[in-house]
This record gives sequence, structure tokens and C-alpha cells, in this order.
Amino acid sequence: MFGRRSANKPGRKDVTVELEEVGAPKYSRVLLKLSGEALMGDKGFGIDPQIVQRIASEIQEVHDLGVEIGVVIGGGNIFRGLAASAQGFDRVSADHMGMLATVVNALALQDALEKLDVHTRVQSAIEMRQVAEMYIRRRAIRHLEKQRVVIFAAGTGNPYFSTDTTAALRAMEIKAEVILKATKVDGIYSADPVKVQNATFLPKISYIDVLTKELMVMDTTAISLCKDNNVPIIVFNIRTSGNIKRVIMGETIGSMVY
Ligand code: UDP
Repeated sequence: MFGRRSANKPGRKDVTVELEEVGAPKYSRVLLKLSGEALMGDKGFGIDPQIVQRIASEIQEVHDLGVEIGVVIGGGNIFRGLAASAQGFDRVSADHMGMLATVVNALALQDALEKLDVHTRVQSAIEMRQVAEMYIRRRAIRHLEKQRVVIFAAGTGNPYFSTDTTAALRAMEIKAEVILKATKVDGIYSADPVKVQNATFLPKISYIDVLTKELMVMDTTAISLCKDNNVPIIVFNIRTSGNIKRVIMGETIGSMVY
């Protein structure tokens, strides 16, 4: 299965050698959800190019193992519709602005991946043909099969939704085996670990517990979609280098929602 992916680029380690060293990945097609904040680093706003480059090289690492990767990218580092509407913006306009912010992030990640020789496509849910392809499910799947990383931009294309819900939707559409939700913390806790000192770490938790305990893993629409369609979610810390590969290789890090 991985043989066809051995189109190694000059200077890269041979895929077969790599597989012998590390074993086969646990997943062959994944949906990685990156929040906008993940690209911001400690900057407080916008994009930190070094962080984007590091995340891109972690994606490259698993891509080199033959894993098919779709990425849904958020926009919270630039614009959040809900917060903006609380400040007086019309909600729908604010959400449109938020979705455009995700396109900015998608282009930043695409640039970083292409610098590493990883073939990519950005597919946008809002048409902007000079900048990105339109989202077309069958075409997205074909790109994945051809070893292109597909970055899904502009969320669902609809206001009142989030990029977490987009991740759930796209994961189902492309038949990803798992959603990898990259966060700033090690996984899911019984309460916000930043605010509550004795919050306990939950390595595994059911969808229904996430919903009833109102744990802020993903919004309820996203969790419900995953629950109804049995898509597991692994929540892990993106700030620790190498974690994308660890999760994909099947190491038990982070928390699983199942
Ligand atoms: N958004 C939207 N519809 C979608 C996805 C996103 O309207 O399907 C808007 C919404 O305003 C949101 C913003 O885009 O606040 C950025 O997305 P999100 O907050 O999910 O980004 P993240 O928190 O992952 O960085």
C-alpha cells in the first residue's frame, strides 16, 4: 500500500527505510483540524511564519509515510464572527469575514508545505477561483489519492457554523478514519486546566459525556455529527513537536472522543 508513495524527493529519506524504522502508520487517511490560534504561536494575533513552517514540516513527515491528509484550518487568529458580532457587526457579515480569514491561513500553510516540496491543493467553500479551487468532494478525494495534501478553506461556506463543524463534515465526506484536533493543551480535562487547578485529564471520553458535561472540546454541532457517524476525534497538543506523527503512528497521546 505504501509502495506507490515512494516517489522520494532528492535529499529525503527512502520511505521504505523509514517504515522499517518506525512501523506502519495506524491511519491511512486523516483529517487534521488546525485552529487559527495554532498558527499564531505566542504572537497574540496573525500568523507566526516559524510556527507555520514547523507545522508544515510535521505534516510533511507523515505525508512522507504515505498518509493521506486533509486539513481544515480555522481563522480565530485573525477574525472570529461571534466575537465581532458581539461588538456590533452583523453576524452574517462577521462570519463571512471569519471564513475569509481561514483562506488567509490556508494560503500560508500551502506556501509553507510547498517550500517543503509537498504537493497541495487549497479547496475553498466560497468561490474565489484566482486563489483556490472550489470545494468539490470527489476532486478532493482524488487529490488525496494522488498524495496531495488538501487544505479545506472557508469553513462550510455558511455563516453560524465553525471550522470544527467543517472538520466533522469534511472528515465524513472524505471518509477520514479519524479527526486529529490540534490544540494548545495536552487533551481533554474535566474542567479548563488553565483556570481550575485540580482539573483531571481524561484520556478517553464518549461523545455523549462531552456533550452532557459541556466540555469545550469542539462545538456541539461538530460533536453530534461525529457521534451520529462514528468518527473518532483525538485531541492533542500541537505545541509539542512531533505530536502529529505520534498520533498517526498510534501512540496513546492526547484524549480520544469515541
Ligand atoms: N465560520 C463560519 N462558517 C463556517 C466556518 C467558520 O461562519 O463554516 C466563521 C466564523 O465566524 C468563525 C470564523 O469563521 O468564527 C473562524 O473560524 P473558527 O472560529 O472555527 O476558527 P478557529 O477557532 O478554529 O481558529
